[in-house]
Amino acid sequence: MQTHSEYAIRTNGYLRLAQQVSLVRWIVPPSLALFVLSFELTEHTLVHSTPLDMDFLLELFVFGILGPILITVILTWIVRNLHELEHVHQAMHALNAELENKVALRTRELAHANEELRELDRLKSEFVSLVSHELRAPLTNIQGGLELMLSTTISCPPSQRNTLCIIQSEVKRLTRLVQRILDISVVDSGQLTLNRGPIALRTLLRQIIQNSVFLDKQHPVHLDLPPATQLVFADEDRLTDIISNLLQNAVKYSPAGGEIRIGLAFEDDMAHISIRDHGVGIKPEEIEHLTQQFYRGNSGSQADGYGLGLYFVNKLIELHGGQLQIESTGIPGEGSCFTFTVPLDQESLYELDFAY
Ligand code: ADP
Repeated sequence: MQTHSEYAIRTNGYLRLAQQVSLVRWIVPPSLALFVLSFELTEHTLVHSTPLDMDFLLELFVFGILGPILITVILTWIVRNLHELEHVHQAMHALNAELENKVALRTRELAHANEELRELDRLKSEFVSLVSHELRAPLTNIQGGLELMLSTTISCPPSQRNTLCIIQSEVKRLTRLVQRILDISVVDSGQLTLNRGPIALRTLLRQIIQNSVFLDKQHPVHLDLPPATQLVFADEDRLTDIISNLLQNAVKYSPAGGEIRIGLAFEDDMAHISIRDHGVGIKPEEIEHLTQQFYRGNSGSQADGYGLGLYFVNKLIELHGGQLQIESTGIPGEGSCFTFTVPLDQESLYELDFAY
């Protein structure tokens, strides 16, 4: 696209050329006529000493009158075309300026709308985080009260005890949801700061498997670890959140007996951690949507959940500078594989496993 000054230079150029050609149009034809007249007069009277006969008149007519007229016509045509070109350029210049003004106006409007949206988003996050905070305290109290009631009312009828257990599990579910919403609002507002350091993945993975209450005997977990593993540079709590979430999903979306395999590989300064299950699987066309907020796949309809886990997990992985990759054929029983990357700790030594 041409700039204002380029347009102005071109338009001025055409105008100047038209003026010069116009000047030539007034000078050249009369000069030519005069030159031809003097030349013919000299030739016929002085050199050949012939009278002013038909030849003289014919040559004077052709070269002294028709020639200058033809040159005038051609130069006039050129001047007119140059003026037309100048007008076209002026019109283009005006159009271009109008277009640029419109673009600038729309850009300002978009920036303003964007600013408003950002402010709305900030208010929404603030509101969500405030409500979640307010909900967390009473939920903790209710949970404490329920635990006390369950431990002190050993002699109460089984139906009452059963009801208390149901209430307790619902309160736990609600607490988890509130905590997840709080976590997401912190991540979305950009307030989550990672407390990174060197982490021994082998030890961390074993700890998670030992401590995860959601892991049961019906879902045997296998660790496929290389004999020597490098340390990663990550936030331990957040890395635990990522792995626990993926493991929890592997259990949730696999039938009893479904084996879960945790793999570890190192490539391009990154650790690749994979969690593979043999559950219901994910339809290939759903895969790209799984990390969207509140998205629940076809497999999700049979299980409890809100479609927030993978959104949160993906955000945490991105914050670490890694990536999440999801693979599944969608065939029940073939399951799915969630692989994510975390940067290696460049300064640390290898973590050797003496157990092997
Ligand atoms: P939720 O499990 O609460 O629905 P997530 O964000 O953790 O939310 O998962 C989003 C969707 O991804 C789930 O609804 C489910 O359809 C699908 N999904 C996640 N993990 C698995 C898995 N291991 N196997 C099959 N489907 C899965």
